[in-house]
Amino acid sequence: MQPFDYVRVREISAALAEADSSADYLAGGTTQLDLMKDGVLRPRRLIDITRLPLHGIEERQDTLFVGALATMEELAADPVVGRRLPFVREALLRSASVQLRNMATIGGNLLQRTRCRYFRDPKVHACNKRGRGTGCAAITGTHRSHAVLGTSEHCIATHASDVAVALIALDAVVHITGAQGDRDVPLTGFYRTPGDTPDIENDLRPGELITAVEVPLLPPGARSDYLKVRDRMSFEFALASAAAAVVLGDDDVIRWVRVGLGGVATVPWRAVEAEAVLTGSRAGIEVFTNAARAALAGAEPHPQNAFKVELAQRTLVRSLQTITGVSA
Ligand code: SF4
Repeated sequence: MQPFDYVRVREISAALAEADSSADYLAGGTTQLDLMKDGVLRPRRLIDITRLPLHGIEERQDTLFVGALATMEELAADPVVGRRLPFVREALLRSASVQLRNMATIGGNLLQRTRCRYFRDPKVHACNKRGRGTGCAAITGTHRSHAVLGTSEHCIATHASDVAVALIALDAVVHITGAQGDRDVPLTGFYRTPGDTPDIENDLRPGELITAVEVPLLPPGARSDYLKVRDRMSFEFALASAAAAVVLGDDDVIRWVRVGLGGVATVPWRAVEAEAVLTGSRAGIEVFTNAARAALAGAEPHPQNAFKVELAQRTLVRSLQTITGVSA
């Protein structure tokens, strides 16, 4: 690991003052330190932000205000999450072991880096995400776990977060602060698909800090589900996942629906095409199937991950069945 300086700050203003192009913020560090040991990240200075007053989870009218330093375990254990955001809780519990959930923060989870094996191996030269213009080893190499939505010819890396899939379905908003002031960014506009700049993954500007995430609570009567399909049941990343929430009328017509997909896209994926098919339709297997097809209509699979198109469709259909009680 490259040697680095370490500084601990206790105020946000001090954190922003310490930030420069050679420094990284350090919170839970659960993947950051791995990437530093592997030589993928090489900061000259770490700014420890764990003492900043960005902890805490608070219900505010119809939203949950989550401090960026709240841990995944704290959020999963929060009673409001259990009652009003059950699929967020499911996504958190399926993300990682309890040891990791006790360390990893919500802000860090949203910023986690891809699990693409080539990105994490500096001995591999061709990785546009590590070095723009170097190529993409995954497209010509092993890409079974890679993305089919939101890809480009320059990068097909999958975004690994589970909880971000549920949060993007809920229209969560990220609160950000920086030297230029505070701003709020909807999570749907926070992430960037790779295009020809895979090294730029989100809207965060140099030196800026996520301070909180504001999560709208599910409307009364909503039912939700987070279904994660993976190679093994124990703490594995998703091959495909679906976060769905539905308000069903007495006539079984879908009054309100939100859908996010994970494991299949370069960013946490909001499936607006599926929502358009579902909204106003009577719940049924045919409508669910049409919605799932619409969600994956833009997929651009590669030879080893073509199976993900049907897998993601089936995952979404199954999740909607679980929510609505519609049988096959
Ligand atoms: Fe790098 Fe993206 Fe290609 Fe993986 S998929 S090797 S992260 S450019």
